[in-house]
Amino acid sequence: MAITVFEAMPHVLGSFDSELQQETEAQFEREHINIQTETMVTKVNPKAVTVRLKNGDIQNIDYGLLVWVAGIGTRPIVHALSECITDPKQRSRRGLQVDGCLRVVGIQNAGSIFALGDCGLNGHAPTAQVASQEGRYCATVLNALQEKENRHVKASTLNLAEVLPNVNTFEYRHKGSFAYIGNGKAVAQIPKFSGDGNSEENWNVNGRATYAAWRGVYWTKLLSVKNRFLVGGDWIKTEVFGRALSRE
Ligand SMILES: Cc1cc2nc3c(=O)[nH]c(=O)nc-3n(C[C@H](O)[C@H](O)[C@H](O)COP(=O)(O)OP(=O)(O)OC[C@H]3O[C@@H](n4cnc5c(N)ncnc54)[C@H](O)[C@@H]3O)c2cc1C
Repeated sequence: MAITVFEAMPHVLGSFDSELQQETEAQFEREHINIQTETMVTKVNPKAVTVRLKNGDIQNIDYGLLVWVAGIGTRPIVHALSECITDPKQRSRRGLQVDGCLRVVGIQNAGSIFALGDCGLNGHAPTAQVASQEGRYCATVLNALQEKENRHVKASTLNLAEVLPNVNTFEYRHKGSFAYIGNGKAVAQIPKFSGDGNSEENWNVNGRATYAAWRGVYWTKLLSVKNRFLVGGDWIKTEVFGRALSRE
């Protein structure tokens, strides 16, 4: 069996530091995984993929199993919403452009519409870490708006800067990125501590201990005791019996 990874960019894990990219590529090499960088998949056929190589040549490569990991598309409802808005800033196919308070840009006389998580475009990556911080921010804004409404001020007429003088725009705090690279190993890029919480420098770590930390973080982020129990149980089962590969 041969495994080939096609990557459009010059290196895998494009958002990580080059040290971690090289470590990942070396790990793939040790595992006999062939990486073809700067190679763009242009078409998926039932039994072969068509790729465009760095030099522009087109090749058809046969496959037995294809796993698509190049990301996901925008939901039709998000396209439909964006097409209803005539503002020229609202013309991206990737989501809804939002302002610093996560309100959809270009909505007039309709109060505020917020777009959070993957559907909102505000310069941050579409990750769960961003989405959860945006959710907390939006809850703060809505609570503040509700408080004003209780005092008979119409929410649609409110200026958010007045409602939240201290926290008037959303500020993302990046807490680090992990990626599992196979064989019980992970790479991580953790920002060094800085007073404002947005450090430019990172700690780069990799290996089995990083994978253990990745699992620890993942486990603590699960939202219920039941899920923690089920996920923890699955991990232990896989360690003891291996992955369940059969179809029953
Ligand atoms: C395979 C995969 C792995 C990922 N791994 C990571 C990771 O390791 N770390 C990380 O930070 N991020 C990861 N992400 C990204 C992360 O999952 C998303 O950024 C995050 O879930 C975004 O949250 P969200 O609430 O915006 O959207 P979602 O979590 O996608 O929630 C949107 C919800 O809306 C529902 N919905 C859609 N249309 C309608 C409709 N018309 N009416 C009603 N409901 C509707 C959907 O069913 C869904 O439940 C991963 C994503 C994928 C696909």
